[in-house]
Amino acid sequence: MDLDIKIMKTYSKKKSLKKGVMSDISNVILSKKACENIIKAAKDGYSTPYKQERFGILLGRLKEDTIFITNAILYKCGKYTRTSVLVESYSIEEFIKKLVKKLHLRFLGSFHTHNEVANTISSTLSEDDKYPISENYKTLLEITATIWVSDSPLQQSLYYCQARSGKYRIRIAAYRAEGSFPIIPVGCK
Ligand SMILES: [Zn+2]
Repeated sequence: MDLDIKIMKTYSKKKSLKKGVMSDISNVILSKKACENIIKAAKDGYSTPYKQERFGILLGRLKEDTIFITNAILYKCGKYTRTSVLVESYSIEEFIKKLVKKLHLRFLGSFHTHNEVANTISSTLSEDDKYPISENYKTLLEITATIWVSDSPLQQSLYYCQARSGKYRIRIAAYRAEGSFPIIPVGCK
């Protein structure tokens, strides 16, 4: 896989932060493995005959103002179309519970992919995307991975993490799961 991933500059931490306060979360760091899994999921969904979205959960840690995502795990039991994901709540709760116990990591939220459809790409969240996937585990963030085919150069920004994998471009965006779901900078390590 030809990965070309932005390394994010971490911000200086001037103020001391209370442990785990949602509104203080201002950075997201994806491990290389988590980043690769999200990219793989996006490519896999895009390359199905009519394109399909993909969805999974994010596990890791919250330290001061930064979310560290160590694992991005694909959920295979959903119903997927080109523009939607449908998961069953009982089954997703069990899936999260099992993985949290097994890996001893915190549930952080979910990721899902957005396909290019009719030359349109979007990284923004729909109203449905903002609905928490779990009643038992608090969602801190939601990640979208938008995928399209392009041979143009990568365009990095302060907020997105953009990757190239073969003919694909994948733009990863993170949103804090509260209020108006503000975008927060995401980088891959
Ligand atoms: Zn979406």
